Amino acid sequence: MANSQPEDGPPSKRKRLNMPTKRGVANIVTSVQNLLRNSQSNPIGGRDLFGPTKIDTKILEQTMAEKIHRTKILTMNKCQNCSGLEDMRMNAADPAKLKEINEQKLKHSEEMRQTRSVFGILDDRCRENNGILVIRIDGASNKATKIPILAYKPKSIVDANRISYTMTGVQVPTNGSTKFQTSCYMNLCDRYKKGSSYYFSLVLDFLVKLDKMPTKLFIIADNASPNKSDELLAGYGYLLQSVPNLKSVTLVNNLVGHSHNELDGYFGVMNQHLSTKTIFSTTDYDNELKKIKSTREVNNVYNVYDMSGLKSNVVHILNRGTHHQLHLFKDDKNVIMQCVAEYATTEAFEKLCNNSDQIPLFKDQNIVTQFVAPIVIPELVETEKSLRRLFKSGQGFFKHSHQQSILNHLKNYKSEDFEDTIKQLRDKPAYPLFVTTTTSETVTQYLERHGYIATNLPKPLVVQKSK
Ligand SMILES: [Zn+2]
Repeated sequence: MANSQPEDGPPSKRKRLNMPTKRGVANIVTSVQNLLRNSQSNPIGGRDLFGPTKIDTKILEQTMAEKIHRTKILTMNKCQNCSGLEDMRMNAADPAKLKEINEQKLKHSEEMRQTRSVFGILDDRCRENNGILVIRIDGASNKATKIPILAYKPKSIVDANRISYTMTGVQVPTNGSTKFQTSCYMNLCDRYKKGSSYYFSLVLDFLVKLDKMPTKLFIIADNASPNKSDELLAGYGYLLQSVPNLKSVTLVNNLVGHSHNELDGYFGVMNQHLSTKTIFSTTDYDNELKKIKSTREVNNVYNVYDMSGLKSNVVHILNRGTHHQLHLFKDDKNVIMQCVAEYATTEAFEKLCNNSDQIPLFKDQNIVTQFVAPIVIPELVETEKSLRRLFKSGQGFFKHSHQQSILNHLKNYKSEDFEDTIKQLRDKPAYPLFVTTTTSETVTQYLERHGYIATNLPKPLVVQKSK
């Protein structure tokens, strides 16, 4: 997210460079220095091949940083607000207007900063293990999610013949040696269509593997339409109605251009790790992912359910998608309700808790009770064609074991009944409630009752009378 903030002027004029730019510059400086060290003198003549053997790294940093920085900025998707304000800033005619625009930019940055701190607080609450579960979910870019991965490139295996092996990460905050852990859900040749039902099914799978059922579930994702559709809400509404221990589900979708988070950090580590490897099979690919310290598990076989049959029963709200926070909960009569907030700021959270604009999620709760989601059977016809093409072009490179690994993977899928999966969730124990009552005695009161002088008890405020 830090990268997505607007920057003022070229880096040479700013006090600090951001981390990715710094790293880019450092890599280039090191490479140039190594190059100079290894090619210092010309063995034939007496003159140096590359001129000076020492370079002024400061000058190199200054000249390179701006170029690297600009390239990074231009290739990133920017948020509409940031782009609009930046355009206004460039065209601002007088200093008063410029000041006004800069104030708006600060305000916007503050809103985005608050969202990040809200996520930080939620992550910490999740680590306290008291019933709050925070999940980040997103798909890795297709940069490293293809098979084969080749450190050397035979001419016969063209890029178009490589098959996709996409990965969706489900990440949670943890207390261990890594601050987050990521479960990888692999999808060979996109045999499962990605969309709301797919993402919902991955979260179900993740929940089934937990020891206890969370009380409050927070899902952080980007602002793509499958992350806030009626189909997705139908899934989480169903879950709330069927699992008594789960009390609320909050979907927090980041603003485009500000969605970079800890899960993208994992994808970066993953791309780096795979970039030097040669991989010809799904098994070898999975094994490489398992070597990454913050990998929780790698899943190939999991249930995917189709929730689309329930979406027509969701009360469709116009403009709901323009909000970035959707909150589902049960009211006093156990009716699933929905409410919204613009961004995930602390203010918005307070408003969500006391929101009077609550609307029932479902048109008819009875339909929900009777609903059974069908199991999705992966699509194989196109996939088999792609595989045949790949094995032919990579003849000799793909060993029998590689081919077998991929074919086995393709035909293997889970088909557990929807009711059974939901029952497993319903049977999970809840987290013990942390009970606080205002009437209970404080430690100070307890000590005073036993005749000790303890910390001063808070006394009512009294205005001092003027003498
Ligand atoms: Zn922005």
